[in-house]
Amino acid sequence: MSKLQAAVLTVSDTASKDASADRSGPSVRDILTTNGYEVKFHGIVPDDEETIRKVVLEWTAPGNGVDLILTTGGTGFGVRDRTPEAIGPLLQRQAPGLVHLVLDASLKHTALAALSRPIAGTINNTLILTLPGSVKAVNENMEALLAGGVLAHAVELIRGGSGGSTHNALQGSEHTISSSHSHSHNHLHHHHDHHHHSSGHDVPKPRYILSHDPSLPPPARHRVSPYPLFSPNEAVGTIFREIRTLSTEKKQVTPALKGHVLAEDVYAPQDIPFMHTTSADGYAIRSSDKPGIYKVVTSSTHKLSDVLPEGTIYRINTGGPLPAGTDTVIMVEDTRLVSSMKDEDGEDLEEAEVETLVEIPVGENVRAPGSDVRKGDLALQKGQIIHGTGGEIGTLVFVGRKEVEVYRKPIVAILSTGNELLDIQNPVSLTKADGWGGIWDTNRPSLHAALEASGYEVLDLGIAADTIEAHVEIIKQGLNHADVIITTGGTSMGASDLLKPVIERTLNGTIHFGRVKVKPGKPTTFATIPMEDNPELKKPLFALPGNPASALVMFHIFVLPALRRLAGWPVTACQLPRVQVRINEAMKLDPRLELHRAILRAEKDGITAYSTGGQRSSRVASLCGANGLVILPAKVEGGPEQIDAGGTADAFLIGEVHIATPPGS
Ligand code: AMP
Ligand code: MG
Repeated sequence: MSKLQAAVLTVSDTASKDASADRSGPSVRDILTTNGYEVKFHGIVPDDEETIRKVVLEWTAPGNGVDLILTTGGTGFGVRDRTPEAIGPLLQRQAPGLVHLVLDASLKHTALAALSRPIAGTINNTLILTLPGSVKAVNENMEALLAGGVLAHAVELIRGGSGGSTHNALQGSEHTISSSHSHSHNHLHHHHDHHHHSSGHDVPKPRYILSHDPSLPPPARHRVSPYPLFSPNEAVGTIFREIRTLSTEKKQVTPALKGHVLAEDVYAPQDIPFMHTTSADGYAIRSSDKPGIYKVVTSSTHKLSDVLPEGTIYRINTGGPLPAGTDTVIMVEDTRLVSSMKDEDGEDLEEAEVETLVEIPVGENVRAPGSDVRKGDLALQKGQIIHGTGGEIGTLVFVGRKEVEVYRKPIVAILSTGNELLDIQNPVSLTKADGWGGIWDTNRPSLHAALEASGYEVLDLGIAADTIEAHVEIIKQGLNHADVIITTGGTSMGASDLLKPVIERTLNGTIHFGRVKVKPGKPTTFATIPMEDNPELKKPLFALPGNPASALVMFHIFVLPALRRLAGWPVTACQLPRVQVRINEAMKLDPRLELHRAILRAEKDGITAYSTGGQRSSRVASLCGANGLVILPAKVEGGPEQIDAGGTADAFLIGEVHIATPPGS
């Protein structure tokens, strides 16, 4: 076995400004070197998710030969501790055993180790583990990892070896790290391009084309898909690895800001309230004023900056400022009108004298300057989603923000493919009539609606006939005007299914996955396509299945999280929310993980899921009223055949819970 190659990443705001403050990084490096590793890279980055992810992606790119990455720092509960969030979505295989090992080791020394949130797993052929930032904890963890050759054994297995050279030392504890994993789709990963925007000197990588050559006659096409089946988790991980957040832009603070994500920290430029103001309607007085009769002055008869003369009180409304010399406010309820000024007709014009009935202590009904927001306070943080519920837009305006830097939201192009499709509003047949009426193009209108409801601008590319020329021309149009493309149809095994060959053979794109082990939605395909005039810039394309229910379900599961990521949502917020539900009727399990369309209703003892009936992939009616997708785990050999009525499962939320009603009610 050649020398093991390691890389160390220190994650610390402080150390990134002053490398001499990095103590744990050198400590990890020294321990690795002493134990026979070659430390190829040592980087220091601030506690910033994007930066951490960028470095990890560079180091794990195929061909870099890094066997092991250890990060140190950013795994605690501090506000800036984001290392697990930065790296978690990139992991292709989790290694909870290693997490267990390091936590166990640290817990032997201090219960505070329970506050560390390590993660471990593999990205391509690299093992990665996040260590805490303290030198002491790092030493304890490293000791545990090196004992019995655990790290070396893991690395050897990931490299594709048998683990034999370190196996014996482990004395039969190999169950902690499975060696049975198939490397069947590693060849695909070799042509991943991780968007090296910076380097500009990428080593050309071999491109693997798996799609059939459509110029050959139908008998020459594949009869079994050559694309490896990705698990849904692998698919999501792959999407997040390939997607980059769009650029930022300045936007005016208007209601149209909703759905955007802040690309800057927003600080309050001044105290709010700016000066002493009142939270009640009444009169500003001195706390030393005894109950009695006082002359009333108002903002039109008295300047705020002048000290209020003895014997007078100043009428004030909620939110208004107190004049100089006053320190408290008596509520109108604690006063009595004594006399008023009248006009010629004897009608009341204005209060002249008022009696205060009680003594008021200092500061009553008074808001101190800066008591809502203090000058320099962080009002909203970079990465904050501006929701449609109003709180963030309200806060921006409250602190006086007129414009703010946000991430761009993607423009989404949608395209249906298939000779058989007819536009419901303009039913012109793409092919000569052959006696078959065709199918209404269901996917464009349904996706269009879902996209707009999620706040994205849509570019409707229409319907493409089943020819290479039509596909290429329309997709190029989409690439030129949109940030992401969604197509439906043409991804399965038919001779006229052209999406994959068009992406790979004509548009020079990379298919990151072409099949997913999920029901519905198996042929779901995800690719990135380089722009002709700027190959560094790659745009994502989702080729969804043609069947209307599959297309919509896959949109929610895979596309929507990707759009959110493009729009700058924090990785952890992109995925659909998951809740536990009780199943109303038995649901059979399939060998594939299944997303069962359901109506979720909040009931007094929790959320109940009601099936929407027949679940075949063409039955889009199974999504009528559906606000949830019950996640039915894949059936395993010897495992249960179904989830019984009353049993529980997790469900993704695709709509609001409270509006749902069960069928027939
Ligand atoms: P395909 O993958 O193109 O073979 O499509 C699979 C199935 O979905 C076929 O029955 C198509 O007719 C149908 N289909 C494809 N696109 C649409 C669409 N936009 N609206 C409704 N059905 C479609
Ligand atoms: Mg088709």
